[in-house]
Amino acid sequence: GAVSSARPAMAEAAMAARVPPDEDGDECLPQYRHLLSPDLLAGQVAFITGGGSGIGFRIAEIFMRHGCRTVIASRNLQRVSEASKKLVAATGQQCLPLSMDVRQPQTIAAAVDEALKEFKRIDILINGAAGNFLCPASALSFNAFKTVIDIDTLGTFNTSKVIFEKYFRDHGGVIVNITATLSYRGQALQVHAGAAKAAIDAMTRHLAVEWGPNNIRVNSLAPGPISGTEGFRRLGGKFAEKSDQFSVIPLQRAGNKTEIAHSTLYLASPLSSYVTGTTLVVDGGSWLTSPNSFSALLGVWAAGANQ
Ligand code: NAP
Repeated sequence: GAVSSARPAMAEAAMAARVPPDEDGDECLPQYRHLLSPDLLAGQVAFITGGGSGIGFRIAEIFMRHGCRTVIASRNLQRVSEASKKLVAATGQQCLPLSMDVRQPQTIAAAVDEALKEFKRIDILINGAAGNFLCPASALSFNAFKTVIDIDTLGTFNTSKVIFEKYFRDHGGVIVNITATLSYRGQALQVHAGAAKAAIDAMTRHLAVEWGPNNIRVNSLAPGPISGTEGFRRLGGKFAEKSDQFSVIPLQRAGNKTEIAHSTLYLASPLSSYVTGTTLVVDGGSWLTSPNSFSALLGVWAAGANQ
């Protein structure tokens, strides 16, 4: 539009320089320039659900580049094992891959026991595991809605409670729940994920209140459209790119995984030592201005459904 074409070339270059580079697939960054002290998380251990792919993978990498050891946990052991090899090779830190299903508390308990046996401590929990897809409410099965609530909402509670009981209650800790902005304006075709993530944001406040006295901070991080992720591919990122929908985002672009990892690093580190019970939106201003077009998204959904 008129605004972007009028932007001077120098401002463009300065803006580009401030965006940290990212890699599209589940690969580590070929180079990394520290903006913060490389020992910001030295000696700490982070337990990251969904750490084998997408945003969770990059969070693991950036934490490890700041001295943190990590546990990456999801259902597919092969996925987290391969991810762990890449992370260790790129950062030189330890990374323990574990299989668990956030819907099954006994599998979480076994994974947390394993993590504590290996590292003797857990300082940070990142609840990143989730499932999502576009679907109009009218076509959503009862079971599909329930599955998303099970993984996102109950999964976040299950994992938080297990780690609270096994470690955080007595030692303190930090929890970051990865949520979304979907419910803020009732995003079309997202009633399941929007409701699930809104419930997590509520849980963030409840647990911050109840667990604050145990020296546990609990916050949410709500990403906007993040390139190079499964979420982005499934939720019509290509469509957004093609139809120039990024021009309606205040920062004129999608975010990247490194940017989400940096904001998560802030919430997980002592930089945010007095921050609890809040949601940090990391979306380039997207939810304020992006169209919420039921009919356009219905077209994306129908095209995908007919493939
Ligand atoms: P992703 O790569 O699909 O990550 C989801 C992860 O969750 C996978 O590693 C998956 O591993 C794990 N998972 C799914 N079900 C599980 C279960 N029952 N138990 C344990 N682990 C399970 O997605 P992403 O796009 O990077 O998203 C990461 C987080 O950011 C999610 O919470 C998502 O809602 C949020 N988010 C993303 C965007 C975006 O633009 N991408 C925007 C807003 C919010 P397994 O298959 O091995 O279990």
